[in-house]
Amino acid sequence: MTRFQCKVVTSFLFLGCMHLCAGSLNAAADWQQSFNAASNRSPEALLHLLDEALKEPDYLDDLEAQVQIRLQKAQLMRDAGRYQEALSVLSAADAVAIKALRPDLQAEVILTRGTVKGELGQVADAIDDFHAARKLAQQENNQNLELNVLNALGVGYLYAHNPERAIEYLEQTKELAQALGNTMRERVALGNIGTALADMNQIEASLQAHRQAYALSQKDPQDTGSNAHSVYQLANICSRLFDLKRIDEAQLECRHALQGAEALGHVRILSGILMTLGKLQFEQGNMTEALAPLQRALDLVGTSTPTISLPLLETLATVHTQLNLPAQAASYWQQAYELHLGQDARERTALTEELEVRYEVERRNRDIELLQLNAQLQDTQIRSRDRQLFFAAGLLITCLLLMAALWRGYSEKRKLEAELIKRNTKLEDALNTIQKLASVDSLTGLLNRRAFNDIARQALEHKRRTDAPIAVALGDIDNFKHINDTYGHAMGDEVLTEIANRLSKSLRGTDVVARWGGEEFLCLFPATDIDAALALAEKLRLEVNTYPVSTAFGNFTISITFGVAAVDNDIQTAIRHADMALYEGKRAGGNVCSVAST
Ligand code: GH3
Ligand code: MG
Ligand code: MG
Repeated sequence: MTRFQCKVVTSFLFLGCMHLCAGSLNAAADWQQSFNAASNRSPEALLHLLDEALKEPDYLDDLEAQVQIRLQKAQLMRDAGRYQEALSVLSAADAVAIKALRPDLQAEVILTRGTVKGELGQVADAIDDFHAARKLAQQENNQNLELNVLNALGVGYLYAHNPERAIEYLEQTKELAQALGNTMRERVALGNIGTALADMNQIEASLQAHRQAYALSQKDPQDTGSNAHSVYQLANICSRLFDLKRIDEAQLECRHALQGAEALGHVRILSGILMTLGKLQFEQGNMTEALAPLQRALDLVGTSTPTISLPLLETLATVHTQLNLPAQAASYWQQAYELHLGQDARERTALTEELEVRYEVERRNRDIELLQLNAQLQDTQIRSRDRQLFFAAGLLITCLLLMAALWRGYSEKRKLEAELIKRNTKLEDALNTIQKLASVDSLTGLLNRRAFNDIARQALEHKRRTDAPIAVALGDIDNFKHINDTYGHAMGDEVLTEIANRLSKSLRGTDVVARWGGEEFLCLFPATDIDAALALAEKLRLEVNTYPVSTAFGNFTISITFGVAAVDNDIQTAIRHADMALYEGKRAGGNVCSVAST
């Protein structure tokens, strides 16, 4: 691969955004040499050379070479003001670059196309091309290409009358150029910054920028574009000095610039300088002297470059008016007017196209936004469903926990209830026991005196309602003291218990017997008259006395004496009567049943 150093007059003189020296060709050495040798020849000769190169068998299958040669052609055509031809060559180059699958080459083609369109006044299109080229350059990570595109964007915005925006891109260009050590690009950017500053009416600052750019190109005489750049910067310096009304300085710089431009044969620069020289004469009142340079400039540039042609025509018209040549003046005004109309139409078309493109971009952006919103909505729906599920699961878990807690509480309650019932039962038992203890004699198990009185009271109530007779019988063991004294108290207890058993067993279900005291037993016979009571007492006496009581100390025959009495209205009285009858029985020798005398 050989890098082919082009010696073609570079285009950065005006737009300064072409990148001619990039790209590699599989160029045959002889062709390269012949091209280099021819580089000082006329553009026509160079174009011919390039056409020949396109037909070279060596390059026919080399797609990159096909693109590069067409780029060179387009460049030369552009420099010659043959814009439409340049555009058609570029569209062929674009097709080849796409076919070659080379985004970097495509970016160069698009960049050049933008440059041509820019010069044609289709600024919006040009800027779109530059942005597209920048995107491709960034995709390819091609900084050199991006550098050229940044500069082109700067110039594009200059043409779009947006110098502030232009300076943004041009400053970026300058910084990237410095970073890449590309002094050529740096000085071009500086020159363009100068132009932007002039547009912002910062003439002094603009002059300085151009002087810096000029100084940079002077430092770099080896660079092939340096000479042309110097001339261009000189032209600008002269123009700024004219703006600042520094006429003498302006004239000096303009003459220098003119010499350089003549040598280069660059139409636009030459016409630009000639215009400034004409204006300088006009400013000094030298109308006749002003005519020649202005007329020459117009002849050179024609009406293809409205940015130069229009002020030229206007100045020429004014000069002719001053020279009192109204017919000529009118003719120039007429041309200027037509050019203006044409330019307006071009600008209007460009603006419409730009608006359409903007609309399309906006529409697509809105579509994308809608899609994004839709996606967000779906996302939110999914998230809210997830949340619902989460809450439902949470609720379910809470319910389960609650149920478990309720169940635990319930079983706990049941356990406690069972426990309570158990305790209540125990308590009842205890109460019963206490009651029993309170109403039962601990030794014999018979009712005690208190319990007997309670029952007797109830029986008396009953008697009052039914008038059924009640009787009591008070029994006292005979000679009991003797047993105690002879065999001990324990033996006495045994006998007492046995007698109590016999009495209680022998009674009817409705009868009641209680231990009245020591060895005394009191019986209550409900619904029993005195005779029946006596019979019952007798039965009890026999039960005690008929067979002996067996104890640890042997068998003893025990006897008991009963006193029987009918109950009238008062139990205690009846008991007293029974006691008296008992006393009678004792006196009679005991072991008898005696009835109380009423
Ligand atoms: P009588 O034939 O006249 O009734 O003569 P007695 O000896 O049975 O009569 P007394 O009233 O003089 O004696 C009763 C005795 O009963 C006196 C007392 O020590 C005894 N005694 C009273 N309560 C108990 C008791 O709970 N256990 C024992 N072992 N003896 C008792
Ligand atoms: Mg007694
Ligand atoms: Mg006794």
